[in-house]
Amino acid sequence: MYQDENTISKAIVTPDGETDFQIRYIREENVGIVCTPTNRSYFLLDSADYWYDLIQEKYPPVMKCSCKNDRFNLMLHYTPRVGTEDFKEIRIDCLCTACGKSKRIPTVKIDYSPSAQLLTHPITPCKQPKIKYKTYSLAGYWSNDQLLGMAEYFLKKDLLVYCWYWDSQNTERHFREVSAAELRAFLAGERENYLAIYFSEKSLDSMPMHSGADGKGVVIQQDLWRKNAVVVLHGPFMVMSYGMLHHMDFCSEYLDKDGNVLLKSPSFCAMIQDFRKYSKELLAT
Ligand SMILES: [Zn+2]
Repeated sequence: MYQDENTISKAIVTPDGETDFQIRYIREENVGIVCTPTNRSYFLLDSADYWYDLIQEKYPPVMKCSCKNDRFNLMLHYTPRVGTEDFKEIRIDCLCTACGKSKRIPTVKIDYSPSAQLLTHPITPCKQPKIKYKTYSLAGYWSNDQLLGMAEYFLKKDLLVYCWYWDSQNTERHFREVSAAELRAFLAGERENYLAIYFSEKSLDSMPMHSGADGKGVVIQQDLWRKNAVVVLHGPFMVMSYGMLHHMDFCSEYLDKDGNVLLKSPSFCAMIQDFRKYSKELLAT
């Protein structure tokens, strides 16, 4: 357990002893990979959980120093969270191997536990940095009937329905399975605001839950739908002078930890294909 906030510094060295890296970094998300001169790639910190999902739209370029060199030594500085085994934040120093100048990356804030592995394993091997898989997104200013029509489709398929919502009485976020009647009430706006609704082939009861850094209840991992047989309907948001914007995400492919593109269950894949047709017709009405 850490007794104080004294920073722990660690230079990044691969198992093969390499210390020079090309860096591809997504600053807004604090996610990146590093690549050695012998072309071995590694995820930086917890990037493996987010990397593939984030690069589906745009592949980040190699970071360059103002001297044009693109190789860096990496030094990580961990600030412990007092009274825990966790870290509060990690500062990443990228030192140019040619001119020695330091290139700044935004400090990574850690709001989850456990996080001790970020110090013991600051980088993890990445066999294939660049992989694409197909995801689907539906968004629009749907009418109430259209929104309910989407939900009814999944209810008919006997999927389990989970709701992540804001409980205004206890002022915290909750996540639990809901009945068809509760789901309809959420969608009709007769209940608390939902943050997301998950239609799932399997029980999500044993899913690991994180509590948010704000102490206001459960935080659900953003990419739950990417790895699991789950369709997510995100909470709507109000767009001024247009109305409520609804948004759904799903995919029938996923990546395993070695970066292979795999298909989800045959029943889920068939349903996704059928739902795409169904939603097209529903939204055309
Ligand atoms: Zn330089």
